[in-house]
Amino acid sequence: MNYRHGFHAGNHADVLKHVVLLGLIAALARKDSAMFVLDTHAGRGRYRLDGEQAGKTGEAAGGVERMLATFPRSAPPAIGRYLDAIRRDNADGRLQLYPGSPWLAAQALRPQDRLACCELQSEEAGALRALFAADPRVGVHQRDGYQALAALLPPKEKRGLVLIDPPYEAQLAEFDTALAALRRSLERWPTGIYALWYPIKLRRALGHFQRQAAALPARQVLLAELLVRPADSPLRMNGSGMLILNPPWQYEQELQQALPKLVDALQEQDGSWRLDWLKRE
Ligand code: SAM
Repeated sequence: MNYRHGFHAGNHADVLKHVVLLGLIAALARKDSAMFVLDTHAGRGRYRLDGEQAGKTGEAAGGVERMLATFPRSAPPAIGRYLDAIRRDNADGRLQLYPGSPWLAAQALRPQDRLACCELQSEEAGALRALFAADPRVGVHQRDGYQALAALLPPKEKRGLVLIDPPYEAQLAEFDTALAALRRSLERWPTGIYALWYPIKLRRALGHFQRQAAALPARQVLLAELLVRPADSPLRMNGSGMLILNPPWQYEQELQQALPKLVDALQEQDGSWRLDWLKRE
């Protein structure tokens, strides 16, 4: 396991992933009853953008930095919610910290809610544990996130969200692993909301994944994609997508509004977006 998210924190893929994550949590928070959030591949929770790792790639410049520059004040709700969270974490107005998915989720959750984070790499898991040492709502598990799905689902809260954000070091094989995990999880917890992030390099390499995703035993399967360049090179990440199972009622409407704005802000050349139901019962 060589992947370290610190090299990529705040890039265009994180922007899409975290806009969706916060939107799903906001939709769940419309009801008072408690929710459970499971982050199967959590990372270290918070990243220094002025540190060595982020400095080496400069990826945040094409992601969160552009977002802050493009939307200095007003933004569509999905984007405004994301940028508010970034600004809260950088209260003096200088962008130094990037909140990862566990930190964003924890800030959005209420006292009655619960968050479980899994991270396999020991240094990252240690940082995550330290970050949440004083928060009794958050459990940190140094373990395989795919295996944890069987142990932690279904949750006692009966409503909530699973975020699956693997590093794709195994390339296309990771898609199959993630889909198999989703299939097993849906058997345990059919009514849960699930969001799987995936990278897009070559469009045609994703056909198998999308056919398999459409056949998952979820009631609804929604795909949201953001490309900053045409998906024509296997050598670099040209964009990314979120596969969303059982999204909240009318959630797609906020993405319909946000995705074109995200492309305008983040595209390098000939960017595009896609929002499609693969299945809708
Ligand atoms: N979700 C994080 C965020 O949005 O801030 C970023 C996560 S990063 C893309 C993927 C993380 O998964 C890495 O920190 C890696 O160490 C961890 N990881 C890799 N394989 C794992 C597994 N099987 N179970 C749990 N964590 C894993």
